Amino acid sequence: MNENIKYDSVIIGSGPAGLTAAIYNARADIKTMVIAGNHPGGQLTITPMVDNYPGFPNGVGGFKLMMDMQTQVKNFGVEIRQGVVKNVRCQMSNVRSFEVEMESGEILETKSIIVATGAAVKWLGLPKEKELIGHGVSGCATCDGMFFRDKTVAVVGGGDTACEDASFLSKFTKKVYMIHRREEFRASVAEQKKVFENSKIEILWSSEVKEINPSKSTPDPSFDLKEGNKLNSIKIFNNKTNEEKILEIDGLFVAVGYSPATKFLEGLVELRETGQIITGKNEILSTMTNIEGIFAAGDCVNEHHRQAIIAAGQGCLAALEMQSWLNRL
Ligand SMILES: Cc1cc2nc3c(=O)[nH]c(=O)nc-3n(C[C@H](O)[C@H](O)[C@H](O)COP(=O)(O)OP(=O)(O)OC[C@H]3O[C@@H](n4cnc5c(N)ncnc54)[C@H](O)[C@@H]3O)c2cc1C
Repeated sequence: MNENIKYDSVIIGSGPAGLTAAIYNARADIKTMVIAGNHPGGQLTITPMVDNYPGFPNGVGGFKLMMDMQTQVKNFGVEIRQGVVKNVRCQMSNVRSFEVEMESGEILETKSIIVATGAAVKWLGLPKEKELIGHGVSGCATCDGMFFRDKTVAVVGGGDTACEDASFLSKFTKKVYMIHRREEFRASVAEQKKVFENSKIEILWSSEVKEINPSKSTPDPSFDLKEGNKLNSIKIFNNKTNEEKILEIDGLFVAVGYSPATKFLEGLVELRETGQIITGKNEILSTMTNIEGIFAAGDCVNEHHRQAIIAAGQGCLAALEMQSWLNRL
């Protein structure tokens, strides 16, 4: 073994995938460092209520869940370092090792890496959108759909995710508007057919969301969620007729895409066209990438079904597979 290698495992990312991997590494006495990134705790920290993570009969706040996971990791003695990874290099001397370069310039040497950098919802970029996340605005129908039983909602987008979300939401909501800026969907024929045949879904073609309006239209900066403010309506613009109209809705589901945080791995690790990391070439469930010693888990891998429990499960698998791999060195 090369004595200069400081860590057995560097985990990049501190969402459910990274923190679960850290717990399993700590329990196996693997010398581990977690790099938290710009968003310690990951995506779940911005959602007020998580209703579908097992073990919480009354739901749990997303921030609380992630801070508890972080405490659990720290209690096992794993160091969580603030900072962002800029680059990863593979060293091939007599023993394979990796250099993880931080934006600060610091370089960490490690025998293995677990990439758990997640993904980010592509939001519309409209004023008040971010403030209303969890208060009517959502980037995840699977996560938040149930909060809108018998309500009126809108889905923005025209791909598979948007069509799947609209069909899913129509099962328990009163009405679903689909807002798409073009005159046809990009989704698969099968997903489009389900939408076209669903009487609860009304499609607004050539339409774009121009404004997101809360229930209390106090001007910024007095806009305050603590007063019970939530989504009330959106303004739609028809890009063919230039007409504008107001839609009164309870929920707005943004389904225009996801960006996996994997750019720093380009040229080293094999990625899909859409940026997700390719894993499991030899074994379907495996978390190993094309580079031996680099494993990946969570939303940075998954094109579909982005859920905390899946990310946590894959984080566990990545740690266990990494440990078996280290034992074989
Ligand atoms: C608004 C919202 C509500 C949601 N609600 C639910 C829900 O109710 N139930 C559910 O199961 N799922 C929900 N999800 C989905 C869930 O949050 C994700 O599936 C899950 O967080 C993915 O976990 P992850 O660990 O793969 O990545 P993430 O949670 O995205 O974490 C990624 C981590 O990587 C770090 N990182 C990124 N790039 C770098 C870098 N270069 N260097 C170092 N660190 C880096 C980030 O700082 C972050 O800590 C929701 C998502 C959103 C956006």
